[in-house]
Amino acid sequence: MTAFGSVFMPEMAAARFNGTSWSPAEIVSGERIELHPGAHVLQYASTCFEGLKAFKHADGSVKIFRMDRNVARLAQSTELLGMPAIDKPAVTQMILDIVGRFASQVPEPPGSMYIRPSHIGTEAAIGKAAASTATSLLYVMLSPVGDYFAGNDKTLRLLLDDEGMRCAPHMGTVKCGGNYASALLAIQRAKATVQADQVLFCPGGDVQETGAANFLLIDGNEVITKALDQSFLHGVTRDSILTLARDMGFDVQERELSVDELLERATKPGCEAALSGTAAVLAPVGTLLYNGHEYSVGDGLAGKTTKRFRQALNDIQWGRAEDTHGWLTAVEVKA
Ligand SMILES: *Cc1c(COP(=O)(O)O)cnc(C)c1O
Repeated sequence: MTAFGSVFMPEMAAARFNGTSWSPAEIVSGERIELHPGAHVLQYASTCFEGLKAFKHADGSVKIFRMDRNVARLAQSTELLGMPAIDKPAVTQMILDIVGRFASQVPEPPGSMYIRPSHIGTEAAIGKAAASTATSLLYVMLSPVGDYFAGNDKTLRLLLDDEGMRCAPHMGTVKCGGNYASALLAIQRAKATVQADQVLFCPGGDVQETGAANFLLIDGNEVITKALDQSFLHGVTRDSILTLARDMGFDVQERELSVDELLERATKPGCEAALSGTAAVLAPVGTLLYNGHEYSVGDGLAGKTTKRFRQALNDIQWGRAEDTHGWLTAVEVKA
């Protein structure tokens, strides 16, 4: 079995900003790009990315899930990093073109085609430590992925960290490598010291998110997650799950959740917790680690509501349930 995201299609869509305008998009080799060693991205981390998926339906059609949200978020990350503004319709077309080109390679359910648009600063100017890159490259890679869970519903162990932060507070809504780099050491330490899978960042006792996923607490009919603010990444999966939960009649609460309330609720029988993100949709959390103590979430196993939410979202993505919110975009298949 290959690791998630380690297989790529041989070509990608690419467009360059030359300081004045964007070039027309091209299909280029997906194997390598050429960069000056002094490129702004390599020196000053002018880079952001997106992650979304295309799905193969039983009738052979290929559909992309909530592409408008991901393109809008790439535009926002780009803006917050001071990079050359992207052309949203052009990027949308690049995604459609490259997925259409490799439509025959989109795996059948439970697999999918993971789409990775990336935007990097290319100007060779090491003097621009405090200035934006004048030029940039935007490319869209594709990576076929299998079933994230592959039949097992192993639950995650999360270390609650109320001292550190995932990233600087003003960078929370930027989907960028710098934020991942900023969280990495804390995650590595948590893996080595308490065999945690992830760190749940709770700055000042406020339950926020992990390095790459949003956090949801499911307590009976209540679904509780942090309200949108500038400190964390606004997940498309988070929004989709909350929307479906509301449709099903759950009491969805977007509000502050403290570590104290989390531990008090989580340890009650029947309580569930989950991480949301494009890769896994919803991954069940079985254990919380805090101040040297281990707390089981409910009975520590994958929760039934977690599975129900994940199934409801997968059913829409795979075309097995009606797309009542208009989340899917059809791809024109290029032979
Ligand atoms: C990408 C990401 C998520 C999940 O977002 P989705 O749109 O649901 O995939 C959550 N947190 C962080 C920090 C992320 O980078």
